[in-house]
Amino acid sequence: MSEPFSELVQRRLATIRDEGLLRKRRLVEPLGEGRCRLNGRELWDFSSNDYHGLANHPEVIAAACESTRAHGLGARASVLISGWTPAHQALRDQLSQFEAAEDVLLCSSGYAACQGAISALIEPGDLIFCDRLNHACLIDGCRLSGGSLRVFRHNELDALERQLQKAHSHNGRRWIVTESVFGMDGILAPLGRLVELAEQYDATIICDEAHATGIYGSCGQGAVTDLRESGRYDVEQIDRRIPVRIGTLSKALGSQGGFIAGSAELTQLLWNTSRPLMFSTGLSVAACAGASASVRLLQEQPDRCRHLRRAAAELRQTLSEAALTLLGDSDSPIVSLVLEDPERTMNWAGELEAAGFLVGAIRPPTVPNNTARLRISLSSVHSPNVLDELTQILLKLHEASSV
Ligand SMILES: *Cc1c(COP(=O)(O)O)cnc(C)c1O
Repeated sequence: MSEPFSELVQRRLATIRDEGLLRKRRLVEPLGEGRCRLNGRELWDFSSNDYHGLANHPEVIAAACESTRAHGLGARASVLISGWTPAHQALRDQLSQFEAAEDVLLCSSGYAACQGAISALIEPGDLIFCDRLNHACLIDGCRLSGGSLRVFRHNELDALERQLQKAHSHNGRRWIVTESVFGMDGILAPLGRLVELAEQYDATIICDEAHATGIYGSCGQGAVTDLRESGRYDVEQIDRRIPVRIGTLSKALGSQGGFIAGSAELTQLLWNTSRPLMFSTGLSVAACAGASASVRLLQEQPDRCRHLRRAAAELRQTLSEAALTLLGDSDSPIVSLVLEDPERTMNWAGELEAAGFLVGAIRPPTVPNNTARLRISLSSVHSPNVLDELTQILLKLHEASSV
């Protein structure tokens, strides 16, 4: 007889616990304005991907409520059956224009958008060059596609180039799969050089902009838009080499869902081949209308993105001057402070919480071994005073741990 099911569960849990990696759900009540309540205490929330506090913005909430009253909450069916409502149409039109793309597909999550697009587009026999730190949904999509996976060291394009050279005589298509801003270290991918490599070795790039949507671009279109607008590359070449751009509505836009921007033919193909799109109910009406309001707010208030990136760059500079270990150079609102040891990371997170700050503690297997870290997510609603206070606490913790 096989091991009883309850013992299987206990054994697996014990393994995770023994490695010090057991995660627990915590009840966090979002309060808006960059605050939340945890265990009855109000804290500054530096753990959220809601980089502009839009999830609680009155106009976003009003838009979600109004459209829900008019059209109901859920989309009722897959978009291909009857789940395409006026709210979906409006968001599609708005995002296509925002992203300067022929068309945009709406998906029930960024995860579904990435996994579905990659597994539908890449075919068995193709070669996939995948950054080692790519998000799980990108890896899952690659695995499901049946293509052969080649993993290159994080953002190391020399390593990538060597692998591309080796694949010189390969018959299948070559794909490069990357995030534009890596979610766990906040570092940008060298998109311009990636486009050059893709041009040189005839590869196609799929770019996940989950942490760039709402942050980069003149008002949050993403990092590919910055590249397109930089004038350093031919826009046609960028579009040819990065024909698939994926974003999320769930982070900086404060809503829920994902999208894929590209040509009208790309979206038509994906409607007919991406399994999460075909077999999952469409995005909720409330999520569509809320995301629409967020995009409109970012377009009306482009300073939000600039302020946030400046605050992030300043925090990074202060911390690195104090010899704290940050990953790379960036102005993204994800400030990753590497403490290596999972226990030490949990201790710092506990100290910060006691001082009134909720910060994400990220441990393996989400990040590689010995790179456990505090992931400090800034929001444009945090005032300079709040950032100052957080900085002082981090510096004190650092001082205390270096004596
Ligand atoms: C969060 C994230 C996703 C998934 O987006 P959701 O809308 O939360 O499902 C995809 N890719 C990356 C890099 C992410 O960080």
